[in-house]
Amino acid sequence: MAKTENITRYECDRCHQAAYLTGDDPRRSDWRQIRRYTSDGVEAERLLCAVCYRDYRNLAVSQDSDFNRWMIQPTVADDKSKEGRS
Ligand SMILES: [Zn+2]
Repeated sequence: MAKTENITRYECDRCHQAAYLTGDDPRRSDWRQIRRYTSDGVEAERLLCAVCYRDYRNLAVSQDSDFNRWMIQPTVADDKSKEGRS
């Protein structure tokens, strides 16, 4: 086919890899739109390729774990409570 219409260009916001895919191309599912909130509550949306999305998932899982650990260890003003903490 000499002419293909309805092509979408995908570009990773992290590594800038790009792809031109038609609406029925199964590789579209390799591209993921993610949402994050900064510490100030500002929402950021990014498009990631498959490789960067895999890296992002590892980062997000690690950060979720840190957050959950932080949630169950409330800061106590008493100096004695700091003993035994790492
Ligand atoms: Zn990428």
